[in-house]
Amino acid sequence: MLVVPEALIADLVSAEDAFAAVEATFAAMAREDAYNFPVVREALGEGRQYGFKSGLDRAGHLLGVKSGGYFPGNADRGIPNHQSTVFLFDPDSGQLKALVGGNLLTALRTAAASAISIDRLARADARVLGMVGAGHQSAFQMRAAARVRKFDKVVGWNYHPEMLPRLAETAAELGLPFEAVSLEEMGAQADVIVTITSSNAPSVMDAHIRPGTHLACMGTDTKGKQEVEAAILARARVFTDEVAQSVSIGEAQHAIAQGLIAEGDITPIGAVINGTAPGRQSDDDITLFDGTGVGLQDLAAADVAVRRAVERGMASDVAL
Ligand code: NAD
Repeated sequence: MLVVPEALIADLVSAEDAFAAVEATFAAMAREDAYNFPVVREALGEGRQYGFKSGLDRAGHLLGVKSGGYFPGNADRGIPNHQSTVFLFDPDSGQLKALVGGNLLTALRTAAASAISIDRLARADARVLGMVGAGHQSAFQMRAAARVRKFDKVVGWNYHPEMLPRLAETAAELGLPFEAVSLEEMGAQADVIVTITSSNAPSVMDAHIRPGTHLACMGTDTKGKQEVEAAILARARVFTDEVAQSVSIGEAQHAIAQGLIAEGDITPIGAVINGTAPGRQSDDDITLFDGTGVGLQDLAAADVAVRRAVERGMASDVAL
């Protein structure tokens, strides 16, 4: 069994690698060459959560599980609140193949998903990027978005305004001007809006969004969470990583519950990648990607880490 520790991931897997790996697995899912197993997610009390996301990708020859969770007390102990590890198994024999640190991989594969949606669905002439959320993930999402469109400005809003300088720092790193704005102003200026918050109530409202906007809603990955008003989904063309997760734990759970859209109105982004479903059809379409986060994204990104580590002689081989 190979071990690829967390500390090596930054050298082994780039944003470009994550983009290519996640795009291939979304495409395989839409061809039914790959599928995710039901998610297990449990509240452990005192704000702690733990879960298992797993799947099989026949095309990518991947079988595995990401086990991970959120431990709010960790920051006080000097370790990240989010903790995850990826286990890869041989799909032919069931043998454990690799154990891979999953924290940075989670950030990279989540950023890749929103970037894939922007690449495929946002207007080609998108110039202003809107960021809702300024936590750990926000920098990864912004950097990945900037790889797929020539933005000339970033506008940002966060529920906790004291965190906004983090967005300004990432924009500066990308050489882009940053402006902190109200949500009304964001809707008026932004061509693409990425939401990445742990909110339980909508921040972005229907009245904020003008025709032509692309939204990548990435924070809602659990029942009860919500970042955008459900009415936006009724007006938008809705895409997702996986329809089953979108309607149960994703942003679409609310629009479905309110009868505003039906499951059949949601298109897997993999079908757009494969050319079997249309993406944006007019400059005035509002497109919305409901990025719920699937286990296969983790397996695909971990597989890159393992392959690179083997190529460079950096993986430890341990007998189990
Ligand atoms: P974080 O804890 O570092 O940041 C949380 C963000 O949410 C901050 O911007 C904070 O100000 C904001 N926030 C907190 N309470 C809010 C409220 N009531 N209303 C609006 N905003 C609020 O978390 P992170 O690592 O940046 O992750 C953000 C979210 O993305 C989390 O909910 C996480 O579960 C989710 N996530 C999703 C995926 C996926 O694949 N879809 C992957 C990773 C993380």
